[in-house]
Amino acid sequence: MSLFDEMLEERLASLRKQNLLRELRFVGSSQGPRISVAGRQCLNFSSNDYLALANHPALKEAAVRAIEQFGAGAGASRLVCGSLAPFHDLEESLADFKKTEAALTFSTGYAAAVGAITALVRKGDFIILDKLVHASIVDAARLSGAKLRVFDHNNLNDLEDKLKWASQKQFESRNHKSELWVITESVFSMDGDIAPLREIVALKEQYGAWFMVDEAHATGVVSACGRGLADKLGVGDQIDIQMGTLGKALGASGGYICGSRKLVDLLVNRARSFIFSTAPVPAAAAALAGIRIAKSAEGEQLRNALHLRIADFKSQIGLAETETATAIVPIILGDESKTLKAAGCLREKDIFVPAIRYPAVTRGGARLRITLTATHTAADISELADALRVMEILPGLPAK
Ligand SMILES: *Cc1c(COP(=O)(O)O)cnc(C)c1O
Repeated sequence: MSLFDEMLEERLASLRKQNLLRELRFVGSSQGPRISVAGRQCLNFSSNDYLALANHPALKEAAVRAIEQFGAGAGASRLVCGSLAPFHDLEESLADFKKTEAALTFSTGYAAAVGAITALVRKGDFIILDKLVHASIVDAARLSGAKLRVFDHNNLNDLEDKLKWASQKQFESRNHKSELWVITESVFSMDGDIAPLREIVALKEQYGAWFMVDEAHATGVVSACGRGLADKLGVGDQIDIQMGTLGKALGASGGYICGSRKLVDLLVNRARSFIFSTAPVPAAAAALAGIRIAKSAEGEQLRNALHLRIADFKSQIGLAETETATAIVPIILGDESKTLKAAGCLREKDIFVPAIRYPAVTRGGARLRITLTATHTAADISELADALRVMEILPGLPAK
């Protein structure tokens, strides 16, 4: 082994010892309720393809059409070699979908978060994040150089304490103008619960902060047409920056920021992940077909099927229904090795559920993260619920 590899092996061994080592599992099929994992047909409860659009004929056809008309690659950054028509169509459709003035797409949701936050937030500003926001937001907030505070998950009192602190600091440093930013998710990616957006809007207005919401797991799933939680709660107009991904329920790939025309104008000038990166492949515009379906009668049917499965699954494993159902159901086991064992046990039954561990969640917060999709059947749901019950890992539920 080379010295370099020896050094790397030490680090890998440390991860292995903590039950935090990850490995890629080879999948030889497209996404869907059934996938082939390492050569075995498995029931799939790991995908964020909530409306089963990733493999939908309309999206595949849109991707093929985009490739035929605009090619396999985009050539350069949109500011350098010109901005391809399909991205303009997609952005118009996104703005309409999210009821905002404008939209800008990025190569990924991660790039959208990093690009937008570092473009907008300056050193000397104050960023206040929900404790459970996605890594892309945490990384961006750190990169911005702003003073960073985290409030307890969905805890409005703690958020207000942090806002009070920041506005006091803001007052003390009046000589240079600083801004306050509050950022949260609408549907939390590893817990599947939702943020009290109305109450946060009231606080952000009271304290003069700007508000950004990541709708990665709500878009396509929540509210009429799948417009998201901000739409459902009627607070879209009071959210300054709406972010999300095109890679989950919308079935394609990419990220977006929706908001005012001025916001998009500024991002085009300042978002480094947009400026210094080759435009996404033209086929990414397949997301436009995803939005069309989400808004259509077919989309409504898919959402209804999804929500039926969610309700069915929750009732089978003894979880209460919530007012806003989401497709993410975590079974929190805490211990990393226990969670790995549980996922392994499910895989032996040909059921694929990821063991989510640090740093995706806190240490000791390991869990099975179950995601449901519109094309899971009632039998699929029962098979999973039965397997979990037999394993006796459901809190407060006796084995059958
Ligand atoms: C997946 C995800 C992202 C990143 O989006 P990608 O398009 O996958 O890069 C951002 N925020 C949240 C909450 C996510 O779950």
